[in-house]
Amino acid sequence: MGSEKLFAGIEAGGTKWRVAIGRSPELLADTTIATTDPDSTISACVEFIRNSGIPVEGTGIAAFGPLDLDPNSNTYGFLTTTPKPGWSNTNIKSRIEDSLGVPVVIDIDVGGAALGEWRWGAGRGLDNILYVTVGTGFGGASLREGRTFHELGHPEMGHITVEREKTDTFPGSCPFHRSCLEGMAAGPAISARWGRPGPELSERLEVWDLEARYLAQGMQTYIYTLAPQRIILGGGVMQQPGLLDMVRKRLEERLAGYGPAPSDVDNFIAAPEFGQDAGLIGAIALARRQFEGT
Ligand code: ADP
Ligand code: ZN
Repeated sequence: MGSEKLFAGIEAGGTKWRVAIGRSPELLADTTIATTDPDSTISACVEFIRNSGIPVEGTGIAAFGPLDLDPNSNTYGFLTTTPKPGWSNTNIKSRIEDSLGVPVVIDIDVGGAALGEWRWGAGRGLDNILYVTVGTGFGGASLREGRTFHELGHPEMGHITVEREKTDTFPGSCPFHRSCLEGMAAGPAISARWGRPGPELSERLEVWDLEARYLAQGMQTYIYTLAPQRIILGGGVMQQPGLLDMVRKRLEERLAGYGPAPSDVDNFIAAPEFGQDAGLIGAIALARRQFEGT
């Protein structure tokens, strides 16, 4: 690595924060911190970076939302009205900037993950990709030539309403919309509908068939509005073996050959190359782009 600059990356999540130092997907040091209150979480994170003894030129943060990403706003870089107790109106960006003494760039978690996958992973070499995550929440980030279009407020791709599948009587778990994608197909919706969390339902084919149908509905909407060259589909729920293939199959059926349809669905719907590290590696990519221009 020689004299090449190093950066810190933080994936700030609602249950844990992951912190790493590096300038590429090969991380030099990394750790995980449980998300408690903002003071303790932020200081643990700053301490880790300081104690590493590695000088960093800047820090990238890929954070849970909702975030204020309008650079002209008084609350730029703030977490706004999150239901997570104690975290509403937390100024994540400047608190880390002030205590670490290096500049900080912040983006929404999926925006970071999308950038990392575009730069080094499953989106390499493409101009227009979509990164979607299905985990505790449901979200997506669309990248055109490496840029998101959400600098003035990020989209909420997981809150698009879906059509109820015939056999499904589950009302939906989104407190705002009930039967949006997040309310019907994110991890907590699976647990609420079937009475057990996803990892314990592997043997139940009907669970994953229904899940794949909802995900295919979502992918159809994204394809017809954004015409991506590839969709990278990640998050905890997608770790369910076989699910990605079921989504591909249902998607082909739904598209019925119409529109900017992918000719090769296996290649078109891809798993993230960095798996559960996509957000953390993306945070490093954010810092490099912002503070080094590479
Ligand atoms: P978060 O969204 O909190 O960052 P994850 O992306 O890891 O975290 O998603 C967590 C969700 O994924 C949980 O609801 C969990 O039940 C679900 N999940 C994890 N593994 C599997 C699996 N193998 N099959 C189905 N669901 C899973
Ligand atoms: Zn919703």
